[in-house]
Amino acid sequence: MASALTDKLTRLVKEMRGQARITETNVQDMLREVRMALLEADVALPVVRDFIARVKEKALGQEVLGSLKPGQTLVSIVNRELAATMGEGVADINLAAQPPAVILMAGLQGAGKTTTTAKLAKHLIEKRKKKVLTVSGDVYRPAAIEQLKTVTKQAGAEWFPSTPDQKPLDIAHAALDYAKKHYFDVLLVDTAGRLAIDEALMKEIKDLHAALNPVETLFVVDAMQGQDAINTAKAFKEALPLTGIVLTKLDGDSRGGAALSVRQITGAPIKFAGVSEKLDGLEVFDAERHAGRILGMGDIVALVEQVTAGVDMEAAQKLAAKVKSGDGFDLNDFLSQIQQMKQMGGLSSLMDKLPSQLTAKAGALDMDKAEKDIKRKEGIIQSMTPLERRKPELIKATRKKRIANGAGVHVQEVNRLLKEFEQMQGMMKKMKGGGLMKMMKKMGG
Ligand code: GDP
Repeated sequence: MASALTDKLTRLVKEMRGQARITETNVQDMLREVRMALLEADVALPVVRDFIARVKEKALGQEVLGSLKPGQTLVSIVNRELAATMGEGVADINLAAQPPAVILMAGLQGAGKTTTTAKLAKHLIEKRKKKVLTVSGDVYRPAAIEQLKTVTKQAGAEWFPSTPDQKPLDIAHAALDYAKKHYFDVLLVDTAGRLAIDEALMKEIKDLHAALNPVETLFVVDAMQGQDAINTAKAFKEALPLTGIVLTKLDGDSRGGAALSVRQITGAPIKFAGVSEKLDGLEVFDAERHAGRILGMGDIVALVEQVTAGVDMEAAQKLAAKVKSGDGFDLNDFLSQIQQMKQMGGLSSLMDKLPSQLTAKAGALDMDKAEKDIKRKEGIIQSMTPLERRKPELIKATRKKRIANGAGVHVQEVNRLLKEFEQMQGMMKKMKGGGLMKMMKKMGG
C-alpha cells in the first residue's frame, strides 16, 4: 500500500536530480503524488487541498540546500509541514486547576473513551503521581458503567459509582463533591457514547461541560475512522471547546490520516495515541513519527529487502550463535559486519531508500567520506594478525604502530576503531543474540 508512493517519489526525486531549485513545473508531479498519498491515508479531501497549497507556497523558489536534491528537499518540506500541522513538541495533560482537575472525555461510541479514561488514569497515577477518581455519565448503557469500573480498578484508580436511573448532571455533581472532599487531584469523566452525532446527546455533554468547567476536554477519535473523522470532529468542535485529542487504535493498519484532518478541523493538539487495547497502550503523540506513517514507510521495506538480500545469512547466523553461546564478539566478527555493510550496496544507495525525514537529517553527511571510512576500517583490521583479531586486548602500543603502518593510517585511527569495536562488543553482549544481524532477519521476515 505504502510502497507505491515511495516508489513514485523515488523516481521523481531521481528525475529532479541536477536541478538547483524547486519550480512550478518540477514540483507539480511530486505534489500530485503527495496528494494521492494523503488521500490513500484517508486524510479528508478539504484538508488535503489546504495542505498541498501550503506546501507549494513554502516550496516554490526554495533553494536546494547543501547536498540535497530538489526532490529530497520537497519531501522534507512535506514531512516538516505534516509534522508541524499535527503539532510540535510534547503536549501533556494540563492539570493546572484548583484540584480536582476535571478531565471530560468526549467522542463517538466505540471510539475508545472508556479504555482511554482508564489509560489516562494509569498514566496520571504512574507518571505524575496523582490521586485519580473516575466516573461514568453513560446512563444509557449499564454495561458501560461496569466497564469503567473494571478498567479503573485495573488502572489502580478509584471509581465513583453511578447508576442508569440517575441524571448525568447529578452524577457529575456528586462525583465532583466526593473528589473535593477526599482530596483527589484529578476527576476523569467518561461520557455517554453516541453512534452518530445526536442533538440530545450533544446538549447533554455541553451541559456537563458547563457544570464541571473541565481543565481538559479531550476528543477521543478512532484512527480507523478515516474520512468520517472530519464530520465527527466538526460536530464536537462546534459543541465543545476542545483542549486536546486522543487518537486511538493506531496499532491498527490504518495510515492514520485522521490525525491530520482532526487536528486541522479542531485546532486542538493531539496529546496521546492509543496503541493497544491494554491499559499501558497509551503513548504521547509523536507528530514527526506520525508524518512518516501518513506518507508511507515503503522505503523502509525496500531498504530491508536490499539489506537482507545482501547479507550473507550463514555468516550472520554463525555470528548470532556465537554471541548467544557467550563466545564473545571479536574483531573478525566486527570485520564481517563492516563487510556486510559494504555488500548492501554502499551507503549512498541505502540513503536513497531511507524515509525522507531521515535523509533530511542526514543531508549534511558526506556519503563518499563515510564509504572511505568503511574501507579504511577494513584495511586496519586486515593488517592485524589472526591472534590479534581474536584477542584485541593484546593490541598495545607496538602492535598498534605496526598495524597503522600496514594500513597506511595514523595510530589514532587504530585507537578509534578499537574503541568503536569495544562499544559494539558491549552492545552485542547486551543484546545477547546477534544484534544487527538478528534485527535485520526479523525485519526481513
Ligand atoms: P467507548 O465506547 O468510546 O467507551 O469505547 P471503548 O473504550 O469501549 O473501546 C471500544 C473498543 O475499542 C474496545 O474493544 C477497546 O478495547 C478498543 N480500543 C480502545 N482503544 C484502543 C486502542 O488504542 N487500540 C486497540 N487495538 N483497541 C482499542
